[in-house]
Amino acid sequence: MRAVVLRDWDDLALEEIPIPEPGEGEALVRVAGCGICGTDLKIVAGAYEGTWPPSFPFVLGHEWAGEVVSLGPGAEESGLRPGDRVAAENHAGCGMCRNCRAGRYNLCERAGTPGYKLYGHTAQGALAEYAARPARLLHRLPPQVSDDAGALVNQGALGVHAVRRTGLDPGSTAAVIGPGLLGLMTAQVAKASGASRTIVVGRGARLELAKRLGVDEVVDYEQSDPVQALRELTGGRGPERVYECSGDPAAVGQALAAVRRGGRVALLGLAGGKTAQIAPDALTLHEVDLMGIRSSPNAYPAMIELLATGAVQVEPLLTHVYPLERVRDAFDAFRAREAIRPILKP
Ligand SMILES: [Zn+2]
Ligand SMILES: [Zn+2]
Repeated sequence: MRAVVLRDWDDLALEEIPIPEPGEGEALVRVAGCGICGTDLKIVAGAYEGTWPPSFPFVLGHEWAGEVVSLGPGAEESGLRPGDRVAAENHAGCGMCRNCRAGRYNLCERAGTPGYKLYGHTAQGALAEYAARPARLLHRLPPQVSDDAGALVNQGALGVHAVRRTGLDPGSTAAVIGPGLLGLMTAQVAKASGASRTIVVGRGARLELAKRLGVDEVVDYEQSDPVQALRELTGGRGPERVYECSGDPAAVGQALAAVRRGGRVALLGLAGGKTAQIAPDALTLHEVDLMGIRSSPNAYPAMIELLATGAVQVEPLLTHVYPLERVRDAFDAFRAREAIRPILKP
């Protein structure tokens, strides 16, 4: 099969590699669409050298959907059948450790050992024609959710996990920093989960897109100070929840400065190993909760439902779709901020 292989840092190439064999409890899936995200760019550039990927050659790709073609031994018990369209999770925790047993398999204590796999990061990803995955990581897509929309479930589910973890209250204001795919989906998830107002902070044309997707207010940080603007839009008090989706370390301090006293700040964007400056007194004196949000445990079914019912819109985000051969163009369009999410179709 054809696959996009990372041969060395900044060295991606289309190669022929063997089709994976589905093992015990696994399904073989024909990949219908796979997105490229900011983490992929950081991985390709070597920001997580020694961890992601553990070695070369490596197949990237962790935001995807496809169609089940065959089942390995024991996988039938999952209820999946060939022909089912599915979206795939990436965190395959060991299932045995304390965190896995508590449902927090995104925080598996065996991370870094062979019993733990993070597909597209420590185990082969899906920028390829086929991928084999444990059936328990696959979630069936209803007809209302297209293959390309299915490739966005991964990022939306991260927003679901963030909204759950921050205990968003009905009637509150949720601010999102960073109008990339993650931010634009998180804002919609927050609205669908009871936020009466959403505000997105960013710049340029993406703010128009945010409005089209139902975001109530936008703040262009090139036109006005984002902290001041968030305060002004909330009667001087600040939003109850701030979701940092940009991965820019400078935004962490802004989020902490803008959030309401007693509010919560969630960090969803990865900073590529960089450090952020924060003022601890702001957390202490205002009893601000600062939380990290990793991946999307138990969140795929809810996200698929939000897409199927139209509560979260993604059609305007699916503007750049490429055949697998054009992987370089797809990366370039993403780097240049032309594409919110390039989708590669093998
Ligand atoms: Zn990603
Ligand atoms: Zn575990």
